[in-house]
Amino acid sequence: MKLGIIGSGQLGLMMILEGKKLGLEFNVIAETKEGPASRIADRAYVYDQFREFVDNSDFVTYEFEHVDGRVLDYASSVNKLRPGIFPVELKRDRSKEKDFLSEKSLPVGPYKVAENASTAIQYASQYGNAVIKSAFGGYDGKGQYIIKNGKVPGDIPEGKYVVEEFVDFDYEASIIGARTTNGEVSFFDPSLNVNKRGMLYYNIAPTKDSGMKEITTRLMNELDYVGVIGVEFFIVNGKALINEFAPRVHNTGHHTLLGSSISQFEQHVRAVCDFPLEDPVLYRPSGIINVVGTQPDSETIRKILEMPEAQYFWYGKNGIRKRRKVGHVNLAAPTYEEVSSKIEQMAGMIYGNDPDTCFTD
Ligand code: AMP
Repeated sequence: MKLGIIGSGQLGLMMILEGKKLGLEFNVIAETKEGPASRIADRAYVYDQFREFVDNSDFVTYEFEHVDGRVLDYASSVNKLRPGIFPVELKRDRSKEKDFLSEKSLPVGPYKVAENASTAIQYASQYGNAVIKSAFGGYDGKGQYIIKNGKVPGDIPEGKYVVEEFVDFDYEASIIGARTTNGEVSFFDPSLNVNKRGMLYYNIAPTKDSGMKEITTRLMNELDYVGVIGVEFFIVNGKALINEFAPRVHNTGHHTLLGSSISQFEQHVRAVCDFPLEDPVLYRPSGIINVVGTQPDSETIRKILEMPEAQYFWYGKNGIRKRRKVGHVNLAAPTYEEVSSKIEQMAGMIYGNDPDTCFTD
């Protein structure tokens, strides 16, 4: 069987590494053939070859929302696209995602849609503390402006925005779910996530469910979803509010590569290729720390590998720059607290005393 992946980043790379175990072949399509997933695919294509790519794949999935529309449309028209085109359409305009969630009575915080920058600023001032988020193309905290006490930092470029009231959350969490074509669902243990400047810094599983499974089941059913989904939440007074969902494998699910009976990547491949899902078992508390905007030297890599139950993943991207995810380290231990302290040590090895510079443009 041949699975086509649209997008050639690290998520595609790890999907291929995990999916090859099942004997699948992988086609990858992207702007160039240089991306991490294209370099290890059985066959790499560029977007102009979208027909050939789709015709040569039994099923097609995506590892990123902001990909070429022609390939999505064509794969969808021949019924090969999983999880389908609708979740991507919701993700391409944040306001559509928010409106969909609230129409379906899924819990989200207060928000308003602004058609231009001045209306966005006005709405943000009304909330007092708010986050102004560009409706288009934003991920990993891109195109976001935090407003505190009505004060807008500098200029906000013209455009459509979603303005959210700032959620004073206790912590952030996420859950990785999966659903098959006949509606069977399964879940990994939820994780507690710590973000830095809008990007995932580290996370640890398991954490309390707080309603995340039930909400995500409803979301997947409403979307008639097939594949793995990552849903990010704010936990406020023990209750879960959806921040956003990702219709694909997700950075907060990388911990499943170590400590779980199956990884999110294999689970996704199974779901989209109509193989049975596993009901994942978390063998041990496990977490990850992202490597962002820095390249550990070989002495550091040696130290990382000296730590028990640590796995180093380098994505082999073309170029390292601030705020770019270039790798991650998986860590597991007998207790949650031990994973937490390993992450702290690992942060020192990767970033020294100053992780913030790597997360700042
Ligand atoms: P997003 O790209 O929407 O996932 O936002 C990135 C990160 O910014 C989140 O994980 C939070 O840490 C923070 N953030 C986003 N929206 C809000 C909000 N309405 N209230 C508080 N923090 C937020």
